[in-house]
Amino acid sequence: MSHSAVGTEKSPLRVAIIGSGPAGFYVVSNFLKHRDLHVTMDMFERLPTPFGLVRAGVAPDHQKYKSVTRVYDRSAKNDNYRFFGNVTYGEHISLEDLKQHYHQIIFTTGAQTDRSLGVPGESLVGSHSATDFVAWYNGHPDYVDCQFDLSQKEVVIVGLGNVAVDVARILCKTENELKHTDIADYALTALKSSHVKNVTILGRRGPAQAAFTPPEIREMGELEDADVSVSYNEAHIDETSRRLLEASGDKNTKKNVAIIEEFSEWHAHEKSKQLTIRFLVSPTEIVGDDEGHVTGIKLVKNETYLDEDGAIKARAIGEEETLPAGLVFRSVGYRGVPLPDIPFNEAKGIIFNHEGRVTDADGVVQTGLYVAGWIKRGPTGVIGTNKTDAKETVDHMVEDVKRGVTFEPASSDYEATKAFIFSRQKDAITYDDWTQLDQKEIESGIKEERPRVKFTALSEMLDVLER
Ligand code: NAP
Repeated sequence: MSHSAVGTEKSPLRVAIIGSGPAGFYVVSNFLKHRDLHVTMDMFERLPTPFGLVRAGVAPDHQKYKSVTRVYDRSAKNDNYRFFGNVTYGEHISLEDLKQHYHQIIFTTGAQTDRSLGVPGESLVGSHSATDFVAWYNGHPDYVDCQFDLSQKEVVIVGLGNVAVDVARILCKTENELKHTDIADYALTALKSSHVKNVTILGRRGPAQAAFTPPEIREMGELEDADVSVSYNEAHIDETSRRLLEASGDKNTKKNVAIIEEFSEWHAHEKSKQLTIRFLVSPTEIVGDDEGHVTGIKLVKNETYLDEDGAIKARAIGEEETLPAGLVFRSVGYRGVPLPDIPFNEAKGIIFNHEGRVTDADGVVQTGLYVAGWIKRGPTGVIGTNKTDAKETVDHMVEDVKRGVTFEPASSDYEATKAFIFSRQKDAITYDDWTQLDQKEIESGIKEERPRVKFTALSEMLDVLER
């Protein structure tokens, strides 16, 4: 086979995609736009189900965001796409295996862990990563056994991003507001008998630097049985932030600031739960009792200042306070995890790459290896951001095919590859299998007027598939 012939009908380009979240599916749709290129794509996913954070991260009461899976479904219907769920890179298949079957390998594994705060007390009982709670209420099979002590009245969430806002909203919603969502059954049961009364979100900078987005923060003021409050002093932004904001024309931040200022004028405390949003405070320690249970969080007040790079930063002004808390959620961002045999930038929590081409630590491009999504750029942006991100990488992959710079797989027989994968994981889940599971979940949801009732254990899924 001549190398230049790759991508033709006789010799289709074989691509392996590791990870089935939005980034992975946008790799598929971007490839499908290259109509002159003959390409087959095999997607590997360690979970039995596809869609990554759309299924296990997007909040269950945000179904409209989840409808993006219809677009992914369309891509998946293409004859040149195959899904292999329940197959783990580094366990069932290695880099060497993939090189024997594919011309190009792209990693779209996202950011599977969380950043730590770096303060004493993070490992006390009752101190959790917000992303664990998110995975738990979304029925992620690896998190079903997590325990969150919802008998506590006081909850503190550290961080001012959309994950913090999601966690606060789920904790503050009533059964009525949650029962028609696809929240995991066990989470709905646990939240129904929750004793949580006061939820406080902590931001280290001001409202003009918050990472949440306007629709998400607006919703905080629309909860059935929780009042939102912000203190007047913390809501009003400093002169430098105001000047920079006016000059930037950043509409979202302007909306955030206006919403927070509006909240600071609300003084109702009539509902059963109180949701407080704080600004200009940093945790210095999570404190606990003799048995190692969280009892509170120490904070220091901050002021913002303009640093030499033109960024608004926070610095402590020395005043301290301790907030009571029986549960603390750290919500300061996700972090990528290294993959076997792939160069990893520990400082940034991403795979070393240049515009999606994997490089070594010195920037030397590694033939045949690519990245897209959060493992390429870090955990930023909304779902749609991954579309343009994947396009950049796919364009480079196509360029490399045209230049003849790919792996040279020993076996590129389409069916032989499938047999090989099943030889490594007999319980691999295909897209047809997933379609059956999907239909069953949706059917189970109908009587309860829910979008679906999720399977949360692999064994249940295999039973349905009669494996
Ligand atoms: P994020 O947007 O990066 O927010 C992290 C927050 O943690 C920021 O407010 C940050 O403050 C704060 N933080 C970081 N280190 C801190 C420290 N040491 N002490 C105190 N605060 C600290 O992360 P995320 O909320 O995990 O969200 C991840 C991505 O998913 C984002 O792109 C987000 O928009 C997206 N997402 C979207 C939705 C949605 O659209 N509804 C829902 C969930 C997630 P600084 O800014 O001061 O660093």
